[in-house]
Amino acid sequence: MSKPQKINERVFLVGGPELTDSRDCCVYLVDGGSELALIDAGVGASCGEIVENIRKLGLDPVQLKYVVATHGHIDHIGGLHYFQSLGARIVCHTLEEGAISEGRPELTAAWYYNVKYQPVAADIILKGEEETLPVGELTLYCLFTPGHTPGGISPYLDVAGSRILFGQDIHGPFDPSWGSEMNQWKESMRKLLGLRADILCEGHFGIYTPAARVQSYIESYLRQY
Ligand SMILES: [Zn+2]
Ligand SMILES: [Zn+2]
Repeated sequence: MSKPQKINERVFLVGGPELTDSRDCCVYLVDGGSELALIDAGVGASCGEIVENIRKLGLDPVQLKYVVATHGHIDHIGGLHYFQSLGARIVCHTLEEGAISEGRPELTAAWYYNVKYQPVAADIILKGEEETLPVGELTLYCLFTPGHTPGGISPYLDVAGSRILFGQDIHGPFDPSWGSEMNQWKESMRKLLGLRADILCEGHFGIYTPAARVQSYIESYLRQY
C-alpha cells in the first residue's frame, strides 16, 4: 500500500485504485483544522486502510465530520456504512437516496463489482442547486451536477487563493439503467467550467492542474459526447 498523497495544504488523497483497493474511486480528505471531511468512501473493502492513511497524515479520524457521497455508485459509497459507524455524517443529494438509502442494485451498480452494498440512511440530504457545509474553518460548496446519475454533486472549496474541485465521474460512463441523462450532463459540465477551478480532483484518474488543464479536461469530454 502506498502513502496518502498531499494535493495542497488542506486536501489529500487517502484512498483510490493506486492506494487502497483497485475497485475504489479516489477518496479525498479535506482538513478544515478542527474537523475533517471525506469526499466519497470507496467500494467498502478498504475503509480501515483509509482510516490508517488519515492517521499517517497526523490527523485524527475521530474528527471526521462528514462523508460527502458525490453519487450512488458502489465504488463511491461502499464504505459509507463503516464511516457512519465511526460517527461521520453522510451527505448526499435526495435524488441519490434510491441508491444510497435503499440500495437499489440497478442504481448502485453493485452487481458490476460483485460486492454487497449495505444501505445507509443519509444524515444530511441536499436538495438545492448549491449548498454549503462548514468543515472546521473551511467551507465546502456542494454543487448539483446531475447527468452521470440523477443526483450527482460536485463539491469544491477555496484554499489560499486556489479553487479545488472534486469532479468524480466527469468522464461517465453513461447508462440509462442508472439514470444517466446527457443533456443534464452537458449543462453540469458547463457549470463546472464556470467554476474555473485551479485543481481538479478526479474520481478515478487523479489530479489535474493548472486551471487551463482542468478546463481542457472537461472540454475534451464535452466534445466526445
Ligand atoms: Zn459513477
Ligand atoms: Zn466512479
